This record gives sequence, C-alpha cells and structure tokens, in this order.
Amino acid sequence: MRKIFFLLLILLLSCSRNQIEQRKDYIVASNYPLKLIIQEIAGDTGIIHCLVPPGISPHLFEPKVSDIQKLENSKVVFYASNELEGWLTKNIQNKIALISLLPKDKVKFMPDGKTLDPHFWTDPMTVYSLVDTLTNVLATYFPQSSNKFIQNAQNFKNKLIELDKELQELLAPVKNRYVFLYHPSFLYLISRYGFNYGGSIEEIPGSEPTPLQISKLVQKIKETKTKAIFSEPQLNNYTAKAVAEMAGVELYELDPLGSEEIKSYSELILKNAKTLVEALK
Ligand SMILES: [Zn+2]
Repeated sequence: MRKIFFLLLILLLSCSRNQIEQRKDYIVASNYPLKLIIQEIAGDTGIIHCLVPPGISPHLFEPKVSDIQKLENSKVVFYASNELEGWLTKNIQNKIALISLLPKDKVKFMPDGKTLDPHFWTDPMTVYSLVDTLTNVLATYFPQSSNKFIQNAQNFKNKLIELDKELQELLAPVKNRYVFLYHPSFLYLISRYGFNYGGSIEEIPGSEPTPLQISKLVQKIKETKTKAIFSEPQLNNYTAKAVAEMAGVELYELDPLGSEEIKSYSELILKNAKTLVEALK
C-alpha cells in the first residue's frame, strides 16, 4: 500500500513539474502580426500564444484574469508599445516592447507629432531593421536554439527584401494618392511607398470624431479627389460608411492585424497592399 502511495506521489510530482516546464516554454505575442513576425525567427521553438483575439483592436482590449495568468506564466511577452497595449504595462515583468528594439531613426510618430506610432509592422523594411535584435533577444531565452534562430532570421530578411520589391512594383501605379484611414494604422507603409496621408476618422482609436472633424475630413476627401476610404474590421464600420456616403466615395477595408486564415507576415502585408491598389487605382 505504502509502495503504491509513493509511486502515485512520484507520478503526481513529475506531472506537475512537467506542466510547469511546459508552461515556461511558451511565448506570448500581444497581437497577431507580432506572432507572425516572431514565428519566422523562432520556427518550432516554443509555442507562441497570441493574446488579443482576432476581431478585437489591441487599443481597446481588456485582459481577463485568464489572460493575466497566461502572461505571468509565459517565458517572455512581446508587445508593440505602451501606446498600443497600455493595459499590459501593469504588473507584467517579463515583457519586451518591440518598438524599443527598433533603431531610433526607424520609429515614427502619430499625426499629433508627439505619440509614438506603434504600428511599425506595416512596413516590411522597418520589420527588417528589427530582425537581428529580436533574434538576439529570443536567443537569450532559448539559447539551445540560437543557431537555428540565426538561420531563420537570415531567411526572413531575404523574404522581407523580396516583399519590399514586390510592394514597390505593386504600389507604383497608386503612388502619391491620398490615403484616408479609419485610424492611423498604416503610416509606416504609407510613408515608405510614397502615399500621402489624408487623415483618419478616429485619430485616437476609441474616441469618436466630432461632427466638425467629420465635415473637415469629408471636405478633404473631396478636395483631393480621392476615390475610396478605408475601414478596419476591428473598429466602428458604421461611422466609416457614413463618411464614405457623405464624401461620395467607395469604402474598402484594410486590416492591420489579420486573423488565423492569414498564414504569414508577407501574406498579411500583400493582402492590404492589393486592397490599396484596387481601391485607389
Ligand atoms: Zn492601431
């Protein structure tokens, strides 16, 4: 009887130890594009959990108790910046803002000129400038995989250069067009590929525009002879529809975050670039 008891105890202890080790093996990426980027370098090392579910804006997300537990039990948490994921800054120790790993001259500002623009992933070459630092950081958490990370990082950088070339060609016919967004989520891409930023319905996500702001925006859409404006699946489509109607333009959808059916970072960016061409050509 005693023997069985000890056997059970050993079994129980080894199970819980395994669970703890497994738990400590995973990485949290706050949003889906960050998961796609980290996955390119990490490959099959560690499991990457995406925290903010598809369809929800990271600006407006509120973590549940189970999310906080997931964060606390992870090996490391990657997020974009305090501007995007302010809810993450409290109590979570093992977190790294990817924007802090970017070279200083690559970081852009929101239209107010003061707030850091967290949506760096919309430009592949900004992502390129992050890859080596991110690879080193990942290697400190998973030293046994560091050689594999270096190899994966090189492959990813090659893919990013190819993607940049493809985008230059694809977007050339609509270069210099004005882009009106739901919120300033694509400024990195807009600036890299030579678009003009027209404005956004919500300059600060979650804060509804006033009637005066809307009428100024409508006027600018008309003045610039822009053919289409863009909504986003995570934000209020109703206002976007109303603005498009008032300005007499088409409404298309850009998605800075993507969802599970998008399998790679390149796929996410190309999908949006194709929408820009279709809408503005
Ligand atoms: Zn945003």
